[in-house]
Amino acid sequence: MPFRIAASIVVRMESKSAISRRKLIKRTAAGAALGGVALQAQSPGVLRGSSAGRKFRAYMTRPGAGSVVEELTLLPIQPRQVLVRIEACAPCYTTIPRALPQAPAGPAANRGRVEVPNHAAVGVVEEIGALVKRVQKGDRVVVAGTSQCGQCYQCLHGDADFCQFTFGGDVFPPFATASDGSPVVAQAGVGGSSELAVVTEEYCCPVFTTVPAVELSLLGDQLTSGFAAGMCRMKIEPGSNVVVFGAGPVGLGAVQAGRVMGAAQVIVVEPIRYRRELAEKLGATVALDPNVEGAGLVEKIRDLCKGPTDRKFAGGEAWTPTGSASGARGADFTIDACGKDNAPPKVERGPDPTGILPMQQAWECTRMGGHLMYMGAVQGNFSLSGSSLALLGRTIHPGQQGGFHMMRDIPRIVKLMERGLVDAKSMIQGTYPLEKAGEAYQEVADRTKLCTVILMS
Ligand SMILES: [Zn+2]
Ligand SMILES: [Zn+2]
Repeated sequence: MPFRIAASIVVRMESKSAISRRKLIKRTAAGAALGGVALQAQSPGVLRGSSAGRKFRAYMTRPGAGSVVEELTLLPIQPRQVLVRIEACAPCYTTIPRALPQAPAGPAANRGRVEVPNHAAVGVVEEIGALVKRVQKGDRVVVAGTSQCGQCYQCLHGDADFCQFTFGGDVFPPFATASDGSPVVAQAGVGGSSELAVVTEEYCCPVFTTVPAVELSLLGDQLTSGFAAGMCRMKIEPGSNVVVFGAGPVGLGAVQAGRVMGAAQVIVVEPIRYRRELAEKLGATVALDPNVEGAGLVEKIRDLCKGPTDRKFAGGEAWTPTGSASGARGADFTIDACGKDNAPPKVERGPDPTGILPMQQAWECTRMGGHLMYMGAVQGNFSLSGSSLALLGRTIHPGQQGGFHMMRDIPRIVKLMERGLVDAKSMIQGTYPLEKAGEAYQEVADRTKLCTVILMS
């Protein structure tokens, strides 16, 4: 196993510190074959493990007591862990309400743990465990909400966004202690709203770019989840009709995927005015307000997708507004990125706070044989006609992170950012120092800002 060989070389190098690296590489065949890589791959930080005991600040939640910024003490890192000095962290709406400064008591209160919220960030590697191969000290890394180990059953079957490191039931150990001695864990083993984070390497993707950290902070979770929905799992086709329900951070990632993949039109459904306007800036060709469209929304979308002719022998779609023919009209690709309200919005409210109605509408506005993906965490269940499920040929794709394979996809989305084709900057509507992290979470909860970013320095 290559990493065992690499580790043994490092140990040997430490015990023979008088020997120069160059001589050591020359001295052994293994060194000639592997040493260059191994010696570069392991930094002095590995050998000393000197970061334990470091003091740092974190925005963290205490069960039933809300969230505060406190000073923590770092615990030793484990062999496969990476110590990351966080530069920027964009709070995810799914952390609401438990990450709020006035978090409610009860089940939402962190399952009794002292926890650093969020599950994605960007930063610089400061120390790596002895078995870490993927990143080096000094690398800038995007820490993603979903891991990609490349070795588990899910990864080997092409489903890295269901990697067993994320969904395998692993219990992530505490990575720090609070001033009162309480062990502190990171949400989902990642956290992010702290000056330091300790994550396993399977969540880290090194990025080699000059794109600012503040923009990269959207690549571990929100923007990439939506973008991947259109690029990775559903693969939007050029010239197609795309509908996106919800112009939040995930939905706007999907809108951008529609634009980049060459969709003929990208129809957005969003109750909040500033989000509709932003959707149009980022690639939506039409932005509809579900509160205005009401019960006519699905038919409006079908009309927008019906094309220039209803002559079937000329490649047209049937325009009959009722009966089975109505199912012929509609979007080729639909992405529902709404979900439920985790907190009462302080802007325009959607027609259904549970998120169920958009799921039903997404199903109905997709054409026969079309594709749809559900990405929102909703409240409750929704039902489909068994016959339509069987006969209309619509393919439902699992949402999660949209087929996102973090090691494969983050670098190529970075390239698109460098070319100006993916716009994270316009999605960020406020930056906050760590002391004001609570405000960053509150704006996200209120939906008064699309994305906020906590900057650590
Ligand atoms: Zn998230
Ligand atoms: Zn895996």
